[in-house]
Amino acid sequence: MPRDPGPRNHPRGHPAALTPGAARRHSVSMPELPEVETVRRMLHATVVGRTVASVRLSGLRLRSPIPAGLPARARGRRITAVRRTGKYLLIDLDGEVTLLSHLGMSGRWLFHARPPAALEPHVHARVRFGDGAEMWYQDPRRFGLLRLVTTARLARDPALVRLGPDPIAEPPTGAGLAALARGVRTSVKAFLLDQRRVAGIGNIYASEILHRAGVDPRRRAGTLGRGEWDRIAAGTTRVLGEAIDRMGTTFSAYRTLWNEPGAYGERLLVYDRADEPCRRCGAPIRRIVQAQRSTFYCPSCQKARRKALPGRA
Ligand SMILES: [Zn+2]
Repeated sequence: MPRDPGPRNHPRGHPAALTPGAARRHSVSMPELPEVETVRRMLHATVVGRTVASVRLSGLRLRSPIPAGLPARARGRRITAVRRTGKYLLIDLDGEVTLLSHLGMSGRWLFHARPPAALEPHVHARVRFGDGAEMWYQDPRRFGLLRLVTTARLARDPALVRLGPDPIAEPPTGAGLAALARGVRTSVKAFLLDQRRVAGIGNIYASEILHRAGVDPRRRAGTLGRGEWDRIAAGTTRVLGEAIDRMGTTFSAYRTLWNEPGAYGERLLVYDRADEPCRRCGAPIRRIVQAQRSTFYCPSCQKARRKALPGRA
Protein backbone atom coordinates (compact mmCIF):
# COMPACT_ATOMS: atom_id res chain seq x y z
CA MET A 1 0.00 0.00 0.00
CA PRO A 2 1.43 3.31 -1.00
CA ARG A 3 -0.28 4.82 1.97
CA ASP A 4 1.39 3.01 4.76
CA PRO A 5 4.90 4.31 4.69
CA GLY A 6 3.39 6.65 2.13
CA PRO A 7 4.41 9.99 0.81
CA ARG A 8 2.84 11.71 3.77
CA ASN A 9 5.63 13.20 5.77
CA HIS A 10 7.12 14.42 2.64
CA PRO A 11 6.66 17.09 0.06
CA ARG A 12 3.34 18.55 -0.30
CA GLY A 13 1.47 16.16 -1.31
CA HIS A 14 2.62 14.81 -3.81
CA PRO A 15 7.73 1.44 -18.86
CA ALA A 16 7.78 -2.06 -23.86
CA ALA A 17 7.61 -5.55 -23.92
CA LEU A 18 5.93 -8.00 -25.43
CA THR A 19 2.34 -8.09 -24.84
CA PRO A 20 1.36 -11.72 -25.29
CA GLY A 21 0.27 -12.54 -28.79
CA ALA A 22 1.08 -9.25 -30.39
CA ALA A 23 4.21 -7.97 -32.03
CA ARG A 24 4.21 -4.49 -30.65
CA ARG A 25 7.55 -2.94 -31.34
CA HIS A 26 7.25 0.67 -32.21
CA SER A 27 6.02 2.08 -28.96
CA VAL A 28 8.64 3.24 -26.55
CA SER A 29 7.33 3.79 -23.08
CA MET A 30 8.76 4.65 -19.74
CA PRO A 31 7.89 3.42 -16.30
CA GLU A 32 4.91 5.34 -14.93
CA LEU A 33 3.29 5.34 -11.51
CA PRO A 34 1.94 1.74 -11.61
CA GLU A 35 5.30 0.33 -12.66
CA VAL A 36 7.18 2.32 -10.01
CA GLU A 37 4.60 1.36 -7.37
CA THR A 38 5.06 -2.33 -8.28
CA VAL A 39 8.81 -1.99 -7.80
CA ARG A 40 8.22 -0.10 -4.55
CA ARG A 41 6.02 -2.81 -3.08
CA MET A 42 8.51 -5.53 -3.99
CA LEU A 43 11.46 -3.57 -2.64
CA HIS A 44 9.56 -2.76 0.53
CA ALA A 45 8.82 -6.46 1.08
CA THR A 46 12.36 -7.53 0.23
CA VAL A 47 14.99 -5.06 1.34
CA VAL A 48 13.54 -3.35 4.41
CA GLY A 49 15.59 -4.42 7.43
CA ARG A 50 18.67 -5.23 5.37
CA THR A 51 21.91 -3.37 6.01
CA VAL A 52 24.03 -1.96 3.21
CA ALA A 53 27.51 -3.56 3.29
CA SER A 54 28.83 -1.84 0.17
CA VAL A 55 27.77 0.02 -2.95
CA ARG A 56 29.71 -0.19 -6.19
CA LEU A 57 29.12 2.27 -9.00
CA SER A 58 29.85 1.91 -12.73
CA GLY A 59 31.22 5.42 -12.83
CA LEU A 60 28.97 6.31 -15.77
CA ARG A 61 26.59 9.22 -15.36
CA LEU A 62 22.85 8.86 -15.42
CA ARG A 63 20.63 11.90 -16.13
CA SER A 64 23.03 13.50 -13.66
CA PRO A 65 26.12 11.85 -12.15
CA ILE A 66 25.64 9.43 -9.25
CA PRO A 67 27.56 11.26 -6.50
CA ALA A 68 30.94 9.61 -5.91
CA GLY A 69 30.44 9.91 -2.15
CA LEU A 70 27.23 7.85 -2.20
CA PRO A 71 28.82 4.47 -1.36
CA ALA A 72 30.63 5.78 1.72
CA ARG A 73 27.55 7.59 2.94
CA ALA A 74 25.25 4.58 2.49
CA ARG A 75 27.56 1.96 3.98
CA GLY A 76 26.44 0.45 7.30
CA ARG A 77 22.93 1.87 7.11
CA ARG A 78 19.79 -0.21 7.38
CA ILE A 79 16.87 0.25 4.97
CA THR A 80 13.84 1.28 6.99
CA ALA A 81 11.13 1.92 4.36
CA VAL A 82 10.59 2.22 0.65
CA ARG A 83 8.21 4.99 -0.33
CA ARG A 84 7.12 6.54 -3.60
CA THR A 85 5.80 9.83 -4.82
CA GLY A 86 4.83 10.17 -8.46
CA LYS A 87 7.50 8.28 -10.40
CA TYR A 88 10.18 8.70 -7.69
CA LEU A 89 11.24 5.93 -5.31
CA LEU A 90 12.35 7.02 -1.85
CA ILE A 91 14.44 4.34 -0.17
CA ASP A 92 14.84 5.42 3.46
CA LEU A 93 17.95 4.44 5.35
CA ASP A 94 18.50 4.82 9.06
CA GLY A 95 20.31 7.93 10.18
CA GLU A 96 17.92 10.14 8.25
CA VAL A 97 19.13 9.67 4.71
CA THR A 98 17.05 8.63 1.70
CA LEU A 99 18.17 7.11 -1.57
CA LEU A 100 16.23 9.00 -4.21
CA SER A 101 15.70 6.94 -7.37
CA HIS A 102 13.94 7.69 -10.67
CA LEU A 103 13.90 4.97 -13.34
CA GLY A 104 14.03 7.42 -16.24
CA MET A 105 13.28 5.63 -19.50
CA SER A 106 14.82 2.21 -18.95
CA GLY A 107 15.87 1.87 -15.31
CA ARG A 108 15.11 -1.16 -13.19
CA TRP A 109 15.94 -2.46 -9.77
CA LEU A 110 16.73 -6.15 -9.65
CA PHE A 111 17.15 -8.21 -6.50
CA HIS A 112 19.40 -11.24 -6.23
CA ALA A 113 19.34 -13.31 -3.05
CA ARG A 114 22.39 -15.09 -4.48
CA PRO A 115 23.97 -12.79 -7.03
CA PRO A 116 25.24 -14.43 -10.22
CA ALA A 117 29.01 -14.49 -10.74
CA ALA A 118 28.77 -12.50 -13.97
CA LEU A 119 27.48 -8.97 -13.81
CA GLU A 120 24.82 -8.08 -16.36
CA PRO A 121 25.49 -5.13 -18.66
CA HIS A 122 24.34 -1.60 -17.79
CA VAL A 123 24.39 -2.11 -14.04
CA HIS A 124 25.31 1.30 -12.64
CA ALA A 125 24.88 0.66 -8.93
CA ARG A 126 25.35 -2.58 -7.09
CA VAL A 127 24.17 -2.54 -3.50
CA ARG A 128 25.49 -5.46 -1.45
CA PHE A 129 23.77 -6.33 1.81
CA GLY A 130 25.25 -7.85 4.94
CA ASP A 131 23.77 -11.29 4.14
CA GLY A 132 25.31 -11.39 0.64
CA ALA A 133 22.12 -10.50 -1.25
CA GLU A 134 22.41 -7.72 -3.80
CA MET A 135 20.19 -5.10 -5.32
CA TRP A 136 21.22 -3.84 -8.77
CA TYR A 137 20.25 -0.70 -10.56
CA GLN A 138 20.35 -1.42 -14.30
CA ASP A 139 19.69 1.33 -16.85
CA PRO A 140 20.78 0.95 -20.51
CA ARG A 141 19.70 4.41 -21.60
CA ARG A 142 20.88 6.14 -18.42
CA PHE A 143 18.10 8.69 -18.01
CA GLY A 144 17.50 7.60 -14.43
CA LEU A 145 18.49 9.36 -11.24
CA LEU A 146 20.19 8.09 -8.10
CA ARG A 147 21.43 10.12 -5.17
CA LEU A 148 21.31 10.31 -1.40
CA VAL A 149 19.34 13.10 0.23
CA THR A 150 18.98 14.00 3.89
CA THR A 151 15.45 12.77 4.61
CA ALA A 152 14.35 16.02 6.25
CA ARG A 153 15.37 17.92 3.12
CA LEU A 154 13.37 15.79 0.68
CA ALA A 155 10.50 18.24 0.56
CA ARG A 156 12.86 20.94 -0.64
CA ASP A 157 14.76 18.73 -3.08
CA PRO A 158 14.75 20.22 -6.58
CA ALA A 159 13.52 16.92 -8.06
CA LEU A 160 10.47 16.80 -5.79
CA VAL A 161 9.66 20.37 -4.83
CA ARG A 162 7.55 21.08 -7.89
CA LEU A 163 5.74 17.75 -8.08
CA GLY A 164 1.96 17.80 -7.93
CA PRO A 165 0.02 15.45 -5.65
CA ASP A 166 0.49 11.73 -6.00
CA PRO A 167 -2.85 10.43 -7.36
CA ILE A 168 -2.76 7.24 -5.26
CA ALA A 169 -1.92 8.96 -1.97
CA GLU A 170 -4.33 11.79 -2.77
CA PRO A 171 -6.92 10.66 -5.32
CA PRO A 172 -7.81 13.54 -7.63
CA THR A 173 -11.30 15.03 -7.66
CA GLY A 174 -13.13 16.56 -10.60
CA ALA A 175 -13.36 19.86 -8.73
CA GLY A 176 -9.64 19.87 -7.96
CA LEU A 177 -8.63 19.08 -11.54
CA ALA A 178 -11.06 21.66 -12.94
CA ALA A 179 -9.55 24.31 -10.66
CA LEU A 180 -6.01 23.38 -11.73
CA ALA A 181 -7.01 23.52 -15.41
CA ARG A 182 -8.68 26.91 -15.30
CA GLY A 183 -7.31 29.00 -18.14
CA VAL A 184 -4.89 26.28 -19.25
CA ARG A 185 -4.53 26.33 -23.03
CA THR A 186 -2.53 23.14 -23.56
CA SER A 187 -4.28 19.90 -24.50
CA VAL A 188 -5.83 17.77 -21.78
CA LYS A 189 -3.30 15.05 -22.71
CA ALA A 190 -0.38 17.44 -22.02
CA PHE A 191 -2.12 18.54 -18.82
CA LEU A 192 -2.22 14.97 -17.52
CA LEU A 193 1.47 14.46 -18.40
CA ASP A 194 2.54 17.60 -16.52
CA GLN A 195 4.14 16.27 -13.32
CA ARG A 196 3.59 19.63 -11.58
CA ARG A 197 -0.18 19.08 -11.69
CA VAL A 198 -0.52 15.36 -11.07
CA ALA A 199 2.62 13.31 -10.43
CA GLY A 200 3.06 9.87 -11.99
CA ILE A 201 0.98 9.77 -15.16
CA GLY A 202 2.88 9.19 -18.42
CA ASN A 203 2.06 8.45 -22.02
CA ILE A 204 0.41 5.05 -21.60
CA TYR A 205 -1.97 5.87 -18.78
CA ALA A 206 -2.86 9.35 -20.09
CA SER A 207 -4.32 7.72 -23.24
CA GLU A 208 -6.08 5.05 -21.18
CA ILE A 209 -7.57 7.53 -18.69
CA LEU A 210 -8.93 9.80 -21.43
CA HIS A 211 -10.51 6.82 -23.18
CA ARG A 212 -12.22 5.71 -19.95
CA ALA A 213 -13.41 9.30 -19.51
CA GLY A 214 -14.64 9.65 -23.10
CA VAL A 215 -12.63 12.84 -23.62
CA ASP A 216 -10.82 13.78 -26.82
CA PRO A 217 -7.07 14.11 -26.00
CA ARG A 218 -6.77 17.21 -28.21
CA ARG A 219 -9.23 19.31 -26.22
CA ARG A 220 -7.76 22.35 -24.49
CA ALA A 221 -7.63 21.55 -20.77
CA GLY A 222 -9.26 24.86 -19.83
CA THR A 223 -12.35 24.14 -21.95
CA LEU A 224 -13.41 20.90 -20.25
CA GLY A 225 -16.58 20.86 -18.20
CA ARG A 226 -16.89 19.72 -14.63
CA GLY A 227 -18.55 16.44 -15.65
CA GLU A 228 -15.60 15.63 -17.86
CA TRP A 229 -13.14 16.32 -15.04
CA ASP A 230 -15.21 14.09 -12.76
CA ARG A 231 -14.85 11.29 -15.30
CA ILE A 232 -11.10 11.94 -15.70
CA ALA A 233 -10.62 11.89 -11.91
CA ALA A 234 -12.54 8.60 -11.63
CA GLY A 235 -10.69 7.18 -14.66
CA THR A 236 -7.33 8.10 -13.12
CA THR A 237 -8.04 6.27 -9.90
CA ARG A 238 -9.46 3.26 -11.71
CA VAL A 239 -6.81 2.89 -14.44
CA LEU A 240 -3.86 3.38 -12.09
CA GLY A 241 -5.38 1.03 -9.50
CA GLU A 242 -6.04 -1.71 -12.04
CA ALA A 243 -2.57 -1.33 -13.53
CA ILE A 244 -0.96 -1.60 -10.07
CA ASP A 245 -2.99 -4.75 -9.43
CA ARG A 246 -1.52 -6.24 -12.61
CA MET A 247 2.02 -5.07 -11.79
CA GLY A 248 2.09 -2.45 -14.51
CA THR A 249 2.56 -2.55 -18.24
CA THR A 250 5.73 -3.77 -19.93
CA PHE A 251 6.53 -2.49 -23.40
CA SER A 252 10.31 -2.42 -23.39
CA ALA A 253 12.57 -2.04 -20.43
CA TYR A 254 10.38 -2.21 -17.41
CA ARG A 255 10.60 -5.32 -15.26
CA THR A 256 9.58 -6.04 -11.73
CA LEU A 257 12.18 -6.65 -9.06
CA TRP A 258 12.15 -10.31 -10.08
CA ASN A 259 12.79 -9.43 -13.73
CA GLU A 260 9.22 -10.22 -14.78
CA PRO A 261 7.17 -8.14 -17.22
CA GLY A 262 4.00 -6.44 -16.01
CA ALA A 263 0.65 -7.90 -17.02
CA TYR A 264 -1.46 -4.85 -17.66
CA GLY A 265 -0.63 -4.76 -21.41
CA GLU A 266 -3.48 -7.09 -22.29
CA ARG A 267 -5.91 -4.77 -20.52
CA LEU A 268 -4.98 -1.65 -22.45
CA LEU A 269 -7.98 -0.28 -24.28
CA VAL A 270 -6.24 2.16 -26.64
CA TYR A 271 -2.49 2.47 -26.03
CA ASP A 272 -0.44 1.02 -28.92
CA ARG A 273 -3.61 -0.34 -30.57
CA ALA A 274 -3.66 1.89 -33.71
CA ASP A 275 -6.17 0.62 -36.28
CA GLU A 276 -7.36 -2.13 -33.98
CA PRO A 277 -11.04 -2.05 -33.01
CA CYS A 278 -12.04 -0.06 -29.94
CA ARG A 279 -12.90 -2.53 -27.18
CA ARG A 280 -15.97 -0.50 -26.35
CA CYS A 281 -17.51 0.47 -29.73
CA GLY A 282 -15.50 -1.32 -32.44
CA ALA A 283 -14.33 1.83 -34.26
CA PRO A 284 -10.65 1.78 -35.29
CA ILE A 285 -8.32 3.29 -32.70
CA ARG A 286 -6.44 6.30 -34.01
CA ARG A 287 -2.82 7.27 -33.31
CA ILE A 288 -1.78 10.90 -33.40
CA VAL A 289 1.33 12.74 -32.26
CA GLN A 290 1.09 15.42 -29.60
CA ALA A 291 4.29 17.12 -28.48
CA GLN A 292 6.40 14.37 -30.10
CA ARG A 293 4.60 11.66 -28.16
CA SER A 294 2.06 9.15 -29.45
CA THR A 295 -1.50 9.48 -28.30
CA PHE A 296 -4.05 6.75 -28.94
CA TYR A 297 -7.79 7.36 -28.80
CA CYS A 298 -11.14 6.24 -30.16
CA PRO A 299 -12.63 8.93 -32.42
CA SER A 300 -16.09 7.60 -31.68
CA CYS A 301 -15.98 7.21 -27.87
CA GLN A 302 -13.86 10.34 -27.47
CA LYS A 303 -15.63 12.78 -29.73
CA ALA A 304 -13.92 16.03 -30.70
CA ARG A 305 -15.54 19.31 -29.81
CA ARG A 306 -15.03 22.52 -31.66
CA LYS A 307 -12.11 23.66 -29.55
CA ALA A 308 -9.91 20.62 -30.08
CA LEU A 309 -6.24 21.31 -30.80
CA PRO A 310 -4.68 19.74 -33.87
CA GLY A 311 -2.85 16.44 -33.49
CA ARG A 312 -0.69 15.04 -36.28
CA ALA A 313 -1.98 11.71 -37.67
ZN1 LIG B 1 -14.79 3.46 -29.07
